[in-house]
Amino acid sequence: MSQQLPSALLSSLQTAKGFDEAAFVRTHASGEQIVSIRLNPAKCEPAQLELAVGDKVPWSSNGYYLPARPSFTLDPMFHAGAYYVQEASSMFIEEAVRQCCAVSEPLKALDLCAAPGGKSTLLQSVLSAESLLVSNEVIKTRAAILAENITKWGAPNVVVTNNDPKDFQRLPGFFDLIVVDAPCSGSGLFRKDPSAMEEWSLNNVELCSQRQQRILADVLPSLKDGGVLIYSTCSYSEKEDEEIADWLLSEEGLQMENIRLQIKPDWNIVESSSKNKTAYGYRFYPDKVKGEGFFIAVFRKLGAAVTQKQSAGKSKPLLPTKQEVAVVQKYVSDDEMFSLLKLKDEVIVFPSVQFENMLLLQSLLYLKKAGIKAGTVIRDELVPDHELVMSTIMSGTIRRVEVDKETVLDYLRRKDVHIEAEKKGWAIITYHGLNIGLAKILPNRVNNYYPREWRIINK
Ligand code: SAM
Repeated sequence: MSQQLPSALLSSLQTAKGFDEAAFVRTHASGEQIVSIRLNPAKCEPAQLELAVGDKVPWSSNGYYLPARPSFTLDPMFHAGAYYVQEASSMFIEEAVRQCCAVSEPLKALDLCAAPGGKSTLLQSVLSAESLLVSNEVIKTRAAILAENITKWGAPNVVVTNNDPKDFQRLPGFFDLIVVDAPCSGSGLFRKDPSAMEEWSLNNVELCSQRQQRILADVLPSLKDGGVLIYSTCSYSEKEDEEIADWLLSEEGLQMENIRLQIKPDWNIVESSSKNKTAYGYRFYPDKVKGEGFFIAVFRKLGAAVTQKQSAGKSKPLLPTKQEVAVVQKYVSDDEMFSLLKLKDEVIVFPSVQFENMLLLQSLLYLKKAGIKAGTVIRDELVPDHELVMSTIMSGTIRRVEVDKETVLDYLRRKDVHIEAEKKGWAIITYHGLNIGLAKILPNRVNNYYPREWRIINK
């Protein structure tokens, strides 16, 4: 490793619980890279993967280490949403959610700082199918990447929003769970990306800490009494970690208490406690765990859990026509469990239990994507959207054509592909049984409908 760890970082960490400078420096100097993925249990079993997987990530149901870094771009199952490439320490969010929330209940969860989607795809797998996940990203371009990853994940109970944290004050006491995976100074990722060391400074740590407080103060009114807040960073700095926990507990208006988690000793996660309020937090050091730097602390909002009823106000829902409903329903499996609405002229499909919530969110926030976009109804036919094809709710109405690796990679590059099929018309290209995208088979050619902006370039 050519870059040196910033000396101001090393001196500032002398008081941090569990910090072992020699081991920490050695681990960074080793250049060892750890790669891990988390499977999408709604789409894929470990045995279906082509990738060689190694040990399980100890605190995760679906996380696996890989023996080496493959080219994910050239793995069609990656594009199919069979797994998400995620750093192992941050998969611990699952354990925090399971320990602190009734995950079999229908919960309303907000992932406030969600792009590119690692924590959101994880939360979606852990929460019940009757739950609603609002996955928000304030930066517009990053919200587009988030929407793409959520689309590939395929679940119908996720809404992607592009709002400022304070916009959620329009939903007082609404959420059972809020995850704030805060923007931070990023020292926890120095081993993965040594060039980030050049941008690190104590001044930036201070600025991040102030921003973290602002974000939390802005969003916490939307957490219900008795609701759970998970706060995490990929920074080692106490100013962004334990001191934020102290701040949360000392702001009277916020009414928060800290929750202690159960940690297995062989996980080698360090439990820390904050200086002023003795709030428990959990530190992941790369010299102790097989993962990158990470911090997490969990809180509960004081007060008895009460659901505040909110109404969508006067705005009228945009409903699809009867004909649109009849056409779209044919393409949705278990269609009696789903409702349809129109969003920006498109028919969207989502769990019926979320109908009221969907109207509320539509009237109060900027929805980048909601549920599953079904497509456009032209006369009595549906021109299916790629979102429907990637979803876990599509019925077998369109035939599926399994192709080999070379063909699927050409399809993903949006090149011409050759498919032998007697029947002409719409087909879903599949690989290892997983939907990849749409094609129209014509007598003398195949039209490739893979989204242009997602295609593989230069590989
Ligand atoms: N949770 C994500 C995941 O697991 O894939 C990573 C989130 S990253 C650590 C922090 C996110 O916060 C970034 O996407 C960033 O754009 C966003 N962000 C930056 N400034 C923000 C602000 N003032 N309020 C809310 N989010 C912000």
